Amino acid sequence: MKADADSMTWKTGDNIGVSECMRLTVKEGKWLIDRLEQEHELSKAEMAALIDANCSELRDYARIKARAIGDRQYGKNIYIRGLIEFTNYCKNDCYYCGIRCSNTKADRYRLSKEDIMACCREGKKLGFRTFVLQGGEDPYYTEDYIVDLIRQIRTDYPDCAITLSIGERERESYERFRKAGADRYLLRHETAAESHYQKLHPQNLSLRHRKQCLWNLKDIGYQTGCGFMVGSPGQTADHLAEDFQFIRELQPEMVGIGPFIPHSDTPFAGEMQGSMELVLYLLSLLRIQQPDLLLPATTALATVHPRGRELGIEAGANVVMPNLSPVGVRDKYALYDGKVCTGEEAAECRSCLERRIESVGYRIVVNRGDHCSAKLMKS
Ligand code: SF4
Repeated sequence: MKADADSMTWKTGDNIGVSECMRLTVKEGKWLIDRLEQEHELSKAEMAALIDANCSELRDYARIKARAIGDRQYGKNIYIRGLIEFTNYCKNDCYYCGIRCSNTKADRYRLSKEDIMACCREGKKLGFRTFVLQGGEDPYYTEDYIVDLIRQIRTDYPDCAITLSIGERERESYERFRKAGADRYLLRHETAAESHYQKLHPQNLSLRHRKQCLWNLKDIGYQTGCGFMVGSPGQTADHLAEDFQFIRELQPEMVGIGPFIPHSDTPFAGEMQGSMELVLYLLSLLRIQQPDLLLPATTALATVHPRGRELGIEAGANVVMPNLSPVGVRDKYALYDGKVCTGEEAAECRSCLERRIESVGYRIVVNRGDHCSAKLMKS
């Protein structure tokens, strides 16, 4: 398989795997990025070759395009979400995760409804208009509990968006939460490739079910977010190309990506950390593939580089999600080692972020920061 850069046609041989493809030249890579911009899709083989060609010249080319596209779509606005990590109990045992159920060293906590409402109160004062309720899959918080919590937040803060990030549930539960007032749902798929999914998860978890949850969330009318880790053990450019294909099919409103960072008390403790440069490149390619995405510069990105969030914004991101959880529990929600911003009060985080974002020519806006299609979605 080879791009003929002079005639600008892309030749694909029958049954030639990506692993056998020739490394793209920079010229060929730029040509594919231009095509992605015009057509918003590439074949899986083309995307894998483009990802595999990751180099500084292509990253710069993609970044400049992505930022221009992001600016056309959302201006210089950066949306903030107040993240409330309300439980680090989880019944699942994902191999990469620091709060997996078999990690006996994790210092477990649960926030009460009152604690969570206090986080919202503080967040509202600081200018947050989206609250993200995130936690492990913790059966302590029953469906009724979550419904009651959503109703309370909806009543007290009618002008704020409520985002849930509480894992895989039955369709009926998602419907109840939506009816109670939840607007958005984040559920990272982590990898869209079946064989790779099995390397990262125990047998009782299935990619098919996870994807079905995402399709259900879309169908019910949530602004839906999926996402994946970059550089997780065993990941190849082919796997990442499958992520792009899945995202093209699902058309989520949000996509969260960040580098894989090993946690010392997991089976992946000794694995290599994911590359920040690759995350930045993929952020740009995501922005180019789907211009209207809400794309966070994640905490994991800030963890691997002191200017990770700023670099994420420059690569095409337009959302940041600072932590509103009480300082006393923040370092306990440790999905990976070394997580940043666990010691500062929410107000400090907020003003630190503001300075960082202004340093790259953007501004935090005080509004819900809905996806541009939100008004058209089912309510
Ligand atoms: S990744 Fe999510 S579902 Fe898996 S163990 Fe961690 S918190 Fe639980």
